[in-house]
Amino acid sequence: MQYDVAVIGGGVVGCSLLHELTRRGYRCVLLERKEHLVAGASAGNSGHAHSGFDTDPASFEGRLLTKARTLATDHFYESLGVPYKKVGALLVAWDTEQLKKLPEVVRKSHLTGLGGVRQITQSQLRYLEPNLSHNALGAVIIPDEALVDPWLLPVMLVHNAQRNGAKVNLSSEVTSCRRLADGGWLLTTSNGQVEAKVVINAAGLYGDKVEEMAGGTSSFSILPRQGQYAVYGREAAPLLRHIILPLPTARTKGVTVFPTVYGNVVVGPTAEDVDERDNPTVDGATIDRLVSYAIGVLPALRDHKIIGTYAGLRPATASQDYHIYGNVHRQWITVGGIRSTGLSASQAIARHVGSILSTDLKLSPSHCPLDRDIGGATKTWSTDCTELALDGAGYKVTHPLTAFGLRKCSKL
Ligand SMILES: Cc1cc2nc3c(=O)[nH]c(=O)nc-3n(C[C@H](O)[C@H](O)[C@H](O)COP(=O)(O)OP(=O)(O)OC[C@H]3O[C@@H](n4cnc5c(N)ncnc54)[C@H](O)[C@@H]3O)c2cc1C
Repeated sequence: MQYDVAVIGGGVVGCSLLHELTRRGYRCVLLERKEHLVAGASAGNSGHAHSGFDTDPASFEGRLLTKARTLATDHFYESLGVPYKKVGALLVAWDTEQLKKLPEVVRKSHLTGLGGVRQITQSQLRYLEPNLSHNALGAVIIPDEALVDPWLLPVMLVHNAQRNGAKVNLSSEVTSCRRLADGGWLLTTSNGQVEAKVVINAAGLYGDKVEEMAGGTSSFSILPRQGQYAVYGREAAPLLRHIILPLPTARTKGVTVFPTVYGNVVVGPTAEDVDERDNPTVDGATIDRLVSYAIGVLPALRDHKIIGTYAGLRPATASQDYHIYGNVHRQWITVGGIRSTGLSASQAIARHVGSILSTDLKLSPSHCPLDRDIGGATKTWSTDCTELALDGAGYKVTHPLTAFGLRKCSKL
């Protein structure tokens, strides 16, 4: 059978694409090299639904994050049954130099069209976050920053897509991509061959390798950037309401202290350039620094022990922006370098790719579009909460934030 679309990669971007394109009536297959979905960059993020307040509104990332604000709404998450909390963020100034920069943060955020972002005084900050260190001098409040379960979102999207006819092939690493005489593609995987009219490369940390495999030169190189985290138990939840951000730099959003949808308190991520594309690692010295930083922000954490650590790898590139484009002649769409906001922008990325497919590549769907695209499922957690059955189909929890959050007892 020839599929309309083969999506390479089962991270949050590939899962969102599968859901959106199936909804549009395309006959789709998702190919994932690992045994489980959400096993690459998407398994090691912070679980924030970023509003895009600090992005360049002219960039691809900025435009798609703006669009995502209208798609990934409270209603969207609720209808999928995915925990989501719009807790807001406080971007805190810790010295007078930083305090002087806050008006510029507010001004830039207004260029993105985001409402509600404003500077607040030290006393307002203490009222909002009474446990924050008294060294904090003031802040910018960004009410639209939110928290989401970063594992359940892609899993629910894939589950819905499968219910609507999509196919998911796990343990299926794409090892070669060959063009067919009819213009379609023959993909050879570690688990058999698949034919599709159009291929979408959403291979995350291997995006450049897949581009090269398809006979082209990649217009970007992946430069993996690791982020480490330390996680406190849910008993720390009463200490913190908002996401506490530092002033961002051009390179990174910086280390944050944040609650999760399940009530853990987390500090991270770091930003370390590494060579490794798999198996992110934590090291004791970095975790000690993160813990000291967290105590500096929230002194009462001194009385709490961390319950775990984790790390993730960002699919960074030399440019700050996403690499998303369709090649009409090759019937190929690249969705690469989705570095640090892919969870937040995923619904807008999927919509955008849907329009590349129909408008630029002029691919007609095999089926009628669906009007009933999302809906909950019967969820049954395994007793140790490491696996979720959705309508009987099993999914292994691969994201530490979900795993720590669902532990019956968050003490080790
Ligand atoms: C430390 C850190 C913090 C972050 N925090 C946030 C945040 O708070 N909010 C936010 O919005 N974003 C955040 N991000 C960014 C977000 O996680 C990424 O943008 C997103 O996960 C990218 O998803 P993806 O699907 O493109 O890539 P991936 O998740 O890497 O998925 C690609 C998949 O392709 C598979 N694959 C690769 N090669 C092949 C092949 N040849 N054949 C078949 N399958 C293949 C891989 O196994 C993988 O599962 C963070 C990232 C990190 C690392």
